[in-house]
Amino acid sequence: MRLKAILNSRCPHCLRGQIFSSFMKMNETCSVCDIKFEREDGYFMMSVFIGYVMAVAALVPIAIYLYVNDASVTWYLLALLPTLLILSPIIFHYARVLWLHIDEVLDPRREGE
Ligand SMILES: [Zn+2]
Repeated sequence: MRLKAILNSRCPHCLRGQIFSSFMKMNETCSVCDIKFEREDGYFMMSVFIGYVMAVAALVPIAIYLYVNDASVTWYLLALLPTLLILSPIIFHYARVLWLHIDEVLDPRREGE
């Protein structure tokens, strides 16, 4: 159930409300249970770290493939930079969704919070 909510970018608390109003724009609160997504200033700093891990996980297999095939530096740039540019919005989006859900599991919101 939570996995489906993560994939559909749903609220970490009620698993029904949308976190994002468009792909890159977050809602401030959940439209269903009214929780505030950004619990405190700097709350999404952990999502930057999660995004970094996601980017490394996406790029390392490509880099290993290029290394095994003895590719030149030009090929590294041609393969890794466009991949990172294309994946950046997806990584931004899901890093935040993932962080919201991880935080909710580790430190669930109480009523009225
Ligand atoms: Zn909700």
